[in-house]
Amino acid sequence: MDSFDAGAGLVLAGRPLPLTSPARVYVCGITPYDVTHLGHAATFVWADVLTRVIRMAGTATEVTRNVTDVDDVLTRTAVERDVAYDEFGLRQEFWFDRTMADLQVRAPDHTPHARHHVRHVIALAGALLVTGDAYERDGTVYFRGARVPAAAGLDRDTALARSAEYGDEPDDPRRDDPFDVPLWKPSDGGQPAWPSPWGRGRPGWHAECAAMALASLGGVVDVLAGGADLEFPHHAYQSAMAAAATGAGLFARRGFRAGVVSVDGAKMAKSTGNLVLVQDLLGSAPGAAVRLLLLDRPWSQPWEYRPEDVATAGGRLEELYVAAGRKPGSSAAVDAVRDALLTDLDVPTALATALEEGGDAARLAIGTLALQ
Ligand code: ZN
Repeated sequence: MDSFDAGAGLVLAGRPLPLTSPARVYVCGITPYDVTHLGHAATFVWADVLTRVIRMAGTATEVTRNVTDVDDVLTRTAVERDVAYDEFGLRQEFWFDRTMADLQVRAPDHTPHARHHVRHVIALAGALLVTGDAYERDGTVYFRGARVPAAAGLDRDTALARSAEYGDEPDDPRRDDPFDVPLWKPSDGGQPAWPSPWGRGRPGWHAECAAMALASLGGVVDVLAGGADLEFPHHAYQSAMAAAATGAGLFARRGFRAGVVSVDGAKMAKSTGNLVLVQDLLGSAPGAAVRLLLLDRPWSQPWEYRPEDVATAGGRLEELYVAAGRKPGSSAAVDAVRDALLTDLDVPTALATALEEGGDAARLAIGTLALQ
């Protein structure tokens, strides 16, 4: 590898993404209140492959994957189970980390926790009050979000529905605009609370990620990653808050959102009750087979989980190992695998070449996709 062509050739979400080293990748992580299902795993395995492909091309990566441990859903669940919210979050996080290790997901360079970054949220809210992008009302600091839906390419009605679905309370009458969201909000009895210039309270969700990204990676990230359902409102607001605070005009150079996983036509979600738990799959299949099941498809497309596909992925993995045992093969085949991965992480094409050509091409695919 010639270090002068570091990062050359990566196409992501249909467009070239030239990179300087290190490439900074922020992955919106878990809210640790429940076990890891296949939909979560798809997001984190894809984000892991993205960074492995970037490193394959010779560019270093700096990866942050946060833990949203200050969150009203988590607090409610912890109260139900009579556990302190932070202890409850840590227990869930322990299991999550084990699942990620089973799936060969490399540990991120930074794992900020929301409860450790409250002062950064307060600083962010303070900065946005100075720039005029926020206002305070009765202990709540609101971010002015009227322009966020259009910037995200959404019409008003769709944006309103999604804001309501994700807990942004667009009906709250105290807001100047339905799309204003809290950077900071007062806490009542059972909720975690910290002192602030606006009284005791806690950060808003989008502000937590904006503050953790600014604190760990700086003002601009190369890629903002997460599940497809985070595109709006979460990623849109996180980006708008960070960009307004830094004045950089742009926070994330590219979004990377893994396709939603469905079961029998319904999105896999706790509320739907159709969760396929990763640890259950790992009881009967190796981690590499589950990983291949998630990866052998276009990353941005929604897809349907079928139980029989786990065994199919296991069989394909065996074929790949057999192919890797063949003699070295041509350098053109190695280049073809490399080019496929750099071209929007085209894993199916890379695997087809690896299986057909075998040898070094198959070993590059196995190594880069961490299917050992
Ligand atoms: Zn986030």
